[in-house]
Amino acid sequence: MSKREFQTEVNQLLQLIVHSLYSHPEIFLRELISNASDALDKLRHLTLTEDAYKSLPFNPRIDLELDEKNSTLTIADTGIGMNEEDLISHLGTIARSGTKNFLAQLSGDAKKDSNLIGQFGVGFYSAFMVADRIEVISRKAGEDQAWRWISDGKTGFEIEPAERSVAGTTILLHFNDEGKQYANSWRLMEVVKKYSNHIAFPIFLTYDKSQWNEAEKKSDKVRTTEQVNAASALWRRPKSELTDDDYKELYKSISGDSQDPLFWFHTRAEGNLDYTTLFYIPAKAPLDLYQAEYKVGVKLYVKRVFIMDDAKELLPPYLRFVRGIIDSEDLPLNVSREILQQNRVLTSIRTASVKKILSELKNIAENQPEKYLEFIAEYNRPLKEGLYSDYANRELLLELIRFKSTRVEGLTSLADVKTRMNAGQKSLYYITGGAESLLRTSPLLEIYKKKDLEVLILDDEVDEIVFSGVDKYGDIDLKAINKASTSDDLKDDTTAEVDNTEALKPLLEKLKATLGDRVKDVRASVRLADSPSCIVTDEEEPSPQLLQMLRAMGQKDIPTPKPTLEINPDHEIVKKLLVRSDDAVTQDAAWLLFDQALLMEGVPLQDPATFVQRLNRVLTLSI
Ligand code: ADP
Repeated sequence: MSKREFQTEVNQLLQLIVHSLYSHPEIFLRELISNASDALDKLRHLTLTEDAYKSLPFNPRIDLELDEKNSTLTIADTGIGMNEEDLISHLGTIARSGTKNFLAQLSGDAKKDSNLIGQFGVGFYSAFMVADRIEVISRKAGEDQAWRWISDGKTGFEIEPAERSVAGTTILLHFNDEGKQYANSWRLMEVVKKYSNHIAFPIFLTYDKSQWNEAEKKSDKVRTTEQVNAASALWRRPKSELTDDDYKELYKSISGDSQDPLFWFHTRAEGNLDYTTLFYIPAKAPLDLYQAEYKVGVKLYVKRVFIMDDAKELLPPYLRFVRGIIDSEDLPLNVSREILQQNRVLTSIRTASVKKILSELKNIAENQPEKYLEFIAEYNRPLKEGLYSDYANRELLLELIRFKSTRVEGLTSLADVKTRMNAGQKSLYYITGGAESLLRTSPLLEIYKKKDLEVLILDDEVDEIVFSGVDKYGDIDLKAINKASTSDDLKDDTTAEVDNTEALKPLLEKLKATLGDRVKDVRASVRLADSPSCIVTDEEEPSPQLLQMLRAMGQKDIPTPKPTLEINPDHEIVKKLLVRSDDAVTQDAAWLLFDQALLMEGVPLQDPATFVQRLNRVLTLSI
């Protein structure tokens, strides 16, 4: 018998499992049954597609055997099984990214962390919540030798040759004090029904059933085997036969989430292509939503046979938070990942599925606006990614995304913004680049406030990149107010006239000469009301904030485009500068006007020391 150590992360996880005050230890059974079901899926797939496996017997079932007296439970499946190597790598390390993520999220606060376990499910290792010793006896399909893996969940595990008459895996749990409550047939049936009722394979429970013995007038214990789950591919049943609880239960068993989903969309398509889809939106965004290695939430079935659950091709990446099932009648069972990428059937299913999900969301937005906001709180940002990547659905996505605005509290839709447009208003406006508080106080907003034009506050990091590519909502232009071109809605403003007045020209020239190559141009502004100056960027150039972000992300060699400084001809400072001769004060003022405009945009100054010196010189004069 050979002894081996667990990988460090496994130890960390086990420590946590044993020491956390975990409130639902019952999920151990869901995790083990789901592993058994995966193992059956894998073997079925091989027997259908690989010649070497076609002659192997396949009698799919999951057997729970309860020994109340000794307080043990076995969970046995007739699935793919594991050989020595598999046991060592699968049950001694942590392979799945979800669990690694989980570990990365731990706070060290036992209470919070145990909540996290509940959301995650940590697979096989969760069995150590209820057992102080676990034996796994497994034989891999197509091999003769079986292996036994034994561990107390503390010091590592041992492995030795063993016997098993058919391929599959048996897990023997020796319950600990916490686990004793599950050495009870009634409790086990309840837990199986709760989490695993719709596992596609039959789950049997063998236990000592009490039976009334009429002759001897007493109750006898009779060893009995009963099927405990419904074992139907629920998604293939008509909607009318399914209750909300059926849907919720299936969701929990396929997603591992312990919360109810927000919504689900169940569709059966017949005709050109035959398929069923059942999609769920989780109440809380999956923890790996913003990680490149996110876990795919949609499982692919062909004619009720599980094919794969890690195909990123099933839905576009921006819908990676969707959980559920796609079951097709038209794909071949042995469909490979390579084929999937360019398969016409899958492309049609995918296109229709995206349309379906988005239009169902639109329905909810219209009919259950409160509930829709719960969705938006979690998923507004991935929808924005869709604007960038899913051109075909852009119009629909623009209807779904919600925005902060200068006009209303909370969030608003573009449709609503449109109804609030002023008579004759030509475009819709937004400001990007920085935190909400910074944007809300930007001098650029002044003229819009004055003219009572609503401006959307886009304070999400991705907004500038995403929205710079979106220039229309229906037939209305969408315009960033921090870009240089001024909009038609401002042009009729009287201050615009000043642009051309000869009187201002000498001052503009002076300022430009002082600021030199730090600015592209200096000109009179039509967008300022109370502030003396602001900076704007050219339509096609990145804003100072975007530049900052790109640099922070490691892109060092992007040239800095020069901003244009705009000054407010109606402001006291500008009026005074206009009548002042060119001296040191004017020069200080030029720089202060420029630097304060940068500060208001949240851009750090290149040379704060000089800024302060100038400020102090000017203060000295004025006091
Ligand atoms: P996950 O199931 O999410 O991958 P687990 O820790 O539960 O994580 O299991 C780790 C791996 O061990 C599985 O991916 C699978 O390869 C293997 N495994 C677990 N249980 C079984 C089983 N009953 N039959 C075959 N393989 C199994």
